[in-house]
Amino acid sequence: MLVLQGFPCSWGRCTFCPFGLEQSVNISEVIEKNRGVIREALKLLDSCRPTRVSVFNGSSFYELPVDTLAALRPLTEGRVVDIEVRPEYVTLDTLKWTIEVLGAKMLVVRVGFEVWDEKLRNEYLRKGIPQSEVQRVAQVAREAKLRGLPVKMLVYVLFGIEGVPEEEVIRSVREYNKLFDGVIAVRYHRYHPRHPRETRVSKKLAEFLETNTVLVDWGEEPEWEIAGKKPGISD
Ligand code: SF4
Repeated sequence: MLVLQGFPCSWGRCTFCPFGLEQSVNISEVIEKNRGVIREALKLLDSCRPTRVSVFNGSSFYELPVDTLAALRPLTEGRVVDIEVRPEYVTLDTLKWTIEVLGAKMLVVRVGFEVWDEKLRNEYLRKGIPQSEVQRVAQVAREAKLRGLPVKMLVYVLFGIEGVPEEEVIRSVREYNKLFDGVIAVRYHRYHPRHPRETRVSKKLAEFLETNTVLVDWGEEPEWEIAGKKPGISD
């Protein structure tokens, strides 16, 4: 897994988003930092021999500097590659371009729709993603398959966040599973006092998620330490 530094997300309005803590507007800083991360990853290639590489930058993959994008191929060529993007970037042309530039054997595109209900998604979480956009991206995913492109589309669904009831989480997983290749459930953690509070996760929901998603990310791995902050604050 490569955790790169990104510029501030072009949307930047989601009510729960912690990634602003580690983004930078300083292009030289971002380029240098990412060159360093890629250099270190290249050193590990021979000993690790990964078949899958995830490239995360706390916003959309396509908002990385060209310098960073151009340096990734030695790490991604011939491998399954995971990237995260906002839905507006998902078109057949960008998918084809990305597979070509990275030399990916399979491109796994992860999109953060977070919740199925449009009101919760846009009025409460402020994702700025209408339901029509969910359907458009699903259509692109179907067309990509029909054309034989090696692409999988996964959806992030957020859980354990105040204001999104567990039944809405369950509904979201069910609905997104119908349209895409799977769901990754992400346990919400609070990094800032103005963000929504975390809620307790019931055993019933945990069991449902373990059974019905491709991955439940409980936010306990080192990549969730953002700009030195551990996940979870109570006030
Ligand atoms: S789209 Fe993603 S990176 Fe951008 S503000 Fe929302 S959660 Fe944060």
